[in-house]
Amino acid sequence: MTVNYIFVTGGVCSSLGKGLTAASIGMLLEKHGIKVAMLKLDPYLNVDPGTMSPYQHGEVYVTDDGAETDLDLGHYFRYTDSPLSRASNATSGQIYNTVIRRERRGDYLGKTVQVIPHITDEIKKRIHECGTQEPGIQLVIVEIGGTVGDIESLPFMEAIRQFRHENKSRCLNIHLTYVPFLKAAQEFKTKPSQHSVQILREIGIFPDIMLCRSEMTLPEDVKAKISLFCNVSEEAVIEEVDVEHSIYEVPIKLHEQGLDTMIAKFFDFKTKQIHLGEWERLIDVIRNPKGKVTIGVVGKYVQHQDAYKSIYEALSHAALDQGYRLEIKRFEADKLPQDSDKFKQEIAGCDGYLVPGGFGERGFEGKVKAAQFCRENKIPYFGICLGMQVLAVEFARHAANLEEANSTEIDPNTKNPVISLLSEQHIVQDFGGTMRLGAYHCDLKEGSLAHKAYQSKHISERHRHRFEYNNKYLPEMEKAGFVVSGRLKEGHLCEIAEVKGHPWMLGVQFHPEFKSKPTKPHPLFNDFIKAAIANHRSH
Ligand code: GLN
Repeated sequence: MTVNYIFVTGGVCSSLGKGLTAASIGMLLEKHGIKVAMLKLDPYLNVDPGTMSPYQHGEVYVTDDGAETDLDLGHYFRYTDSPLSRASNATSGQIYNTVIRRERRGDYLGKTVQVIPHITDEIKKRIHECGTQEPGIQLVIVEIGGTVGDIESLPFMEAIRQFRHENKSRCLNIHLTYVPFLKAAQEFKTKPSQHSVQILREIGIFPDIMLCRSEMTLPEDVKAKISLFCNVSEEAVIEEVDVEHSIYEVPIKLHEQGLDTMIAKFFDFKTKQIHLGEWERLIDVIRNPKGKVTIGVVGKYVQHQDAYKSIYEALSHAALDQGYRLEIKRFEADKLPQDSDKFKQEIAGCDGYLVPGGFGERGFEGKVKAAQFCRENKIPYFGICLGMQVLAVEFARHAANLEEANSTEIDPNTKNPVISLLSEQHIVQDFGGTMRLGAYHCDLKEGSLAHKAYQSKHISERHRHRFEYNNKYLPEMEKAGFVVSGRLKEGHLCEIAEVKGHPWMLGVQFHPEFKSKPTKPHPLFNDFIKAAIANHRSH
């Protein structure tokens, strides 16, 4: 099977939505029956984003094979069926690390190791590998992080130039740019885009398609100017106007302008009449919702738009599936009042609460209070990863009377370590002190909330954590109504916890948010939102 390649670069400024655009292109081509794989190349020197603060980088997206990757892979998952694995994301750090390790092994003995060809060869190798990770891949969409002109992305630019030189008719370059509208002059300005293309040309890259982000629709004469100065045909100047209602409009708008058929024609792919009804339906619901469901998110990084990206997305998928508009109220856990009455006043009023994943002590007690508030008032609660550990600690302290129960991540000397490292639990040594990353099987307990949601007894979900529920405390906690409704197949680790007699209080040790799509919401998010809607109706 011949593999074809699209390279998506960005110009003028960052945050133009390159990831979303690349994902939309992938989705549209899949509708034509093309098998697509996606690859994100990140110019930073961290080996992966796992070590970066969520304030810096936003969420870390985890794949089945346990890679900690860029959040754009979340867009790829939500929009396409591309295989996602370690082969879907490479950083400069990883590339340099590989080359330098080879150098130390003596693989280049006698040679000077250089950016060109050694680094660029390694980049090209990763691009090839992405296209061969599964049989039948026809198109690889490669998104280059950063903005054209950045010093650090130069090796990637050089590599894609060489790649096209070596694979001529099988490569297409798309440049995403920004066309500002200057209010004072009442004019669109194409100069920044011209300059960005100039930089590309100096490197030897000639875009075939210009995608132009703008606040308003671009007049024909502006498009003609971009076409002339950037050396692309007029049909290949495609606008990406700020969407009115939702990011789900992006693929629809690109399709309306014929982007998918233009790409298909370039590669000689067969096209067909494609239908985007399921995406149009989402926009209809956003325009005319049946009602509103409000979810309180009690976390640590709530100020940062991208820190819980997949969680916000998954909540929205489930709300839209029910025909509802989602409103999210963000609570910064460590800023919530200590006093219980004041705490309730501050937090009350949402239809359900979600405590997301997190690391470290800051805000932990606020999250425990939120769980207590939900448990005692029978308000739907969804705990994810740390949010499940919070559920267990709260239950242990206040329902099972396990004094000062805690996680050893928060208090290493706690009397009752209901959450601890496996090495501290003296059971399995293998996982101790290392992160449990990637997909693990889980068996569900019949009749539980989890089983009802998944409609299946065996599931697989992705993990990213170190600490685990301590089974030593289970008999005592079970007596008080704590239910372990999901267990790791081998090893008996607790993966899902619930509270007996509560309408919907559930915590998961894994990250279900990574596997929710707008067109296929995750079953746990669906049932949580249903419970929140029911709670809304009851008062
Ligand atoms: N800090 C917790 C742990 O390591 C939870 C991690 C998370 O929420 N992703 O177990």
